[in-house]
Amino acid sequence: MDFNTLPQLDLANRSVFLRLDLNVPLLDGVIQDDTRIRAALPTIQYILERTNKLVIASHLGRPKGKVVASMSLEPVGQRLSELLQREVLLVQDYAEEPIDSLIAQLGKNQVILLENVRFHAEETEGNEVFAQNLMKGIHIYVNDAFGALHRAHSSIYEAAQQVPRESRAIGFLIEKEIAALTQLTVNVRRPYTLIMGGSKVEDKLAVILHLLEHCNRLLIGGAMAYTFLEIQGYPIGNSFVERDKRALCQSILDIAQARKVEICLPIDHVCGQSLDANTPHQVVEGIAIPAGWMGLDIGPKTIRLFESYIMNSSTVFWNGPMGVFEWPPFAKGSLKVAEAVARCNGFTVVGGGDSVSAVNQAQVAARISHVSTGGGASLAFLEGTPLPGLRVLEKRTEHGG
Ligand code: AMP
Repeated sequence: MDFNTLPQLDLANRSVFLRLDLNVPLLDGVIQDDTRIRAALPTIQYILERTNKLVIASHLGRPKGKVVASMSLEPVGQRLSELLQREVLLVQDYAEEPIDSLIAQLGKNQVILLENVRFHAEETEGNEVFAQNLMKGIHIYVNDAFGALHRAHSSIYEAAQQVPRESRAIGFLIEKEIAALTQLTVNVRRPYTLIMGGSKVEDKLAVILHLLEHCNRLLIGGAMAYTFLEIQGYPIGNSFVERDKRALCQSILDIAQARKVEICLPIDHVCGQSLDANTPHQVVEGIAIPAGWMGLDIGPKTIRLFESYIMNSSTVFWNGPMGVFEWPPFAKGSLKVAEAVARCNGFTVVGGGDSVSAVNQAQVAARISHVSTGGGASLAFLEGTPLPGLRVLEKRTEHGG
């Protein structure tokens, strides 16, 4: 895959459409965490140093094609304005206020922010006319919304096609993500440890299967571990189990064995009596879980075992929590894994919303080689199938077009 990066394009005085992921958490109109806005600044500033004709678009939440006041980008515009020291013009209706005439009137110290693209049903439908409106009078399309690249939405896919391939580029965030994630499958340094957790094995199956071609060990925690333990004949009490996924789990075990990938499952657990924050809990020594109890976190011996694998790795990829880390009695496994990944001297990548939260809770993000900003997109990228939002930005198609 070969893409134009920003320095490869001549932006001087050109009009630029920039698709970002400014999907920040909001509570009563107040931004709870502006990481995504600050992460977009290098790309925005690079463009603004070369042209003031900049139109920024983003989604926020899932308004499902309707105007939902609580999902307006207005607070994002205000924060952006403070950070950029520029006036941010929030444009509500891109058909009524055509982009080309807005750009023509744009002052030197102004920038355009389009209101939440998902307020329009056409965005998620991948509508072409909608994309044409977004791109009216635009010369260059830049995408830096890594977390949205796996969606063939209008502002991601159709909009890029409104300009020639040589006028499409990836922003600095996507460039960083691709460089880091590529290191998990190309010229990998060994030993390579893959840590998977979370609840649903099906969501991660394609990634596991693809990375099994590259890794040396697979550590499995979280709810998904119990289906694996069950098919190996261990009693798992009332633990979460995906009975219809037994065959999938068995195929992962078989493929791992054929490829000589070591599989590590929990050898002890922190159990609760029900899926409840205040449920009584206890450490269950050994693999078997007694009747009436459910595994809600990996136990202390498993933590030590996982730590030893992680610490002597040259490459680590972690996705999905080791337990119900949202509740303090069951958070230790995920926090200890986060700390071990941070202590590992190898190349370490964490992807996926919950594992990233665990890394932030453990305050170790700065010591991890790469913390991916896009959960679903990083998994989709690692499945090895091209993401629609990237395919459309490639310099050439497979057919040379
Ligand atoms: P996922 O979105 O598949 O990465 O799953 C994340 C969710 O899995 C989190 O909300 C965790 O609380 C949940 N989870 C992790 N371990 C367990 C477990 N042992 N039992 C039930 N839920 C779990």
